[in-house]
Amino acid sequence: MENPLPHRRLWIKNPLAAFTANGLDAAGGIVIAGGVIAEVLGAGQSPSAPCEDVFDAGRHVLTPGLINTHHHFYQTLTRAWAPVANAELFPWLKNLYPVWARLTPADLELGTTVALAELLLSGCTTAADHHYLFPDGLENAIDVQVAVVRKLGMRATLTRGSMSLGEHDGGLPPQSTVQDPEVILADSERLVGAYHERGEDAVIQIALAPCSPFSVTREVMEESAKLAERLDVRLHTHLAETLDEEAFCKEMFGLRTVDYLESVGWLTNRTWLGHGIHFDDAEIARLGAAGTGVAHCPTSNMRLASGTARVLELEAAGVPVGLGVDGSASNDASNMILEARQALYLQRLHYGAAAVTCERALGWATRGSATVLGRDSLGELAPGRQADLAMFTLDELRFSGAHDPVAALLLCGADRADRVMVGGQWRVIDGRIPGLDLEELIARHSAAARKLVNGS
Ligand code: ZN
Repeated sequence: MENPLPHRRLWIKNPLAAFTANGLDAAGGIVIAGGVIAEVLGAGQSPSAPCEDVFDAGRHVLTPGLINTHHHFYQTLTRAWAPVANAELFPWLKNLYPVWARLTPADLELGTTVALAELLLSGCTTAADHHYLFPDGLENAIDVQVAVVRKLGMRATLTRGSMSLGEHDGGLPPQSTVQDPEVILADSERLVGAYHERGEDAVIQIALAPCSPFSVTREVMEESAKLAERLDVRLHTHLAETLDEEAFCKEMFGLRTVDYLESVGWLTNRTWLGHGIHFDDAEIARLGAAGTGVAHCPTSNMRLASGTARVLELEAAGVPVGLGVDGSASNDASNMILEARQALYLQRLHYGAAAVTCERALGWATRGSATVLGRDSLGELAPGRQADLAMFTLDELRFSGAHDPVAALLLCGADRADRVMVGGQWRVIDGRIPGLDLEELIARHSAAARKLVNGS
C-alpha cells in the first residue's frame, strides 16, 4: 500500500490486537485523516464516514509509535568494543573519549543513520539524541543529524549537548573534547532558532543538554537553564547514573546529585534526566514535586552494572518516566521494543511480577516517553493525536503458540515491526524502510567504525 494522500481517510481495520496506552478499545481499528488519528473504533464499530483506503490489520498488533528518550547515535560506531566490553561507566568513558574525539561529519552521518534505521525498524517513531562531541571539524554535528532525521521521516528531539569541564579542571573528559561556554551557548541558541518546531505536529525539536556533572562546569549548567527558559525549550542531562558520579558530586561540589541539580536551576518540569538511578526517598519526592522526568535505560544500566532505577516509586511521586536505549556503546542495540522487554524484566525483579505488567512496560515506551519529552500529541491511540503507529506481526517461530498478542510482543521478544507510520506516512513497509539500502549502509558504517577505532 502506498502512502495515503492527506485528504483521504485510511481505516486500519480490525487489528489482531491493539494497545492504545490509555485503555481505549481499538478492536475495530483506527481511522487516519490528515496525518492525525480521527477515530478509534471499538469492537464491531465502523468508521463514521466512508474511508477511501482500508488496510486489513488482521495479522498485526497495533501500538502507538514507540518513543526513545535517551540515546547517543554516534556510539553505533563503537559497539561491543573489546577494551570496554566488561567495564563500568567511568573506565568505560575514559577509554572511549579519545576514540570519539576522532569523529568526523561523515562518521556521524553514518552512525546517526544506522541508529535511526534500527530504531525505526523496531517500531520507534520519535527519538531523542544526546550529542555532546564537537571536535574540530564537527562543529555542525546537530545540523548533520537534522538532515538524517528528515531523510528517514521520523520525529526527533535533538539535544545540543556539551562538555566544558576537562581533566585539567578536575573533570573526566580529555581537554581536547571540551568547549568554551560562550561557544556552547551561542551554538545552542543558533540551533533552536534554525530547527526547533513548536506545535502538535512538530517533527524536529531542539533541547539543551550539558552532558553530566563530571564533564560540565556549574556555569554552563546555570546558563543553559536560563537560555532554555528564555527560548522555551527543554533541558536534558545524565544524572544519578552511578555511585562514582555521586561521589564525584560530593567531592567537587559538596552536594548530592539532586542538591546540585537544584543549585544550578534545573529542578523543574522542563528537565528530563538520563538514568536517574541513585535517588533516596526524599530526592524522589522532590523530583516528583518538580515534575522532572526520567529516561529509564534498563539495558545500559545492566550492561554497565550501574544499578536499578526505582521506577515505580518515581512514578508514584509524580515523576514522568519513559524509556531510553541509551548510546549503542552501552546497550549495544538501538531497539525500542526489546528495551520495553528489558524494562519489564528488570523492574519485575525489583518490584515483583504483578506490579509490572506488559501493558505498564509498553506504557513507559509510549505515553510515558511522550510525557518525558513534553510531546502530549504523541504516544497514544486517541482521536486528535498524531498518526504515529507501530504494527507487529506474530508470524515468526518465536511467537508460535502465543495466546495474548500484546503480552507476546514482550514475552516472546518481538524485535522488528512490520509496518511503522509517522504523521500518517508509512516509513516501514513489510519490515523494510523504502529507499534505504541496508546492505550498503552496513558496509559503509562497518568500515567507518573500523577506521575510527583503529585509525585506518
Ligand atoms: Zn547516556
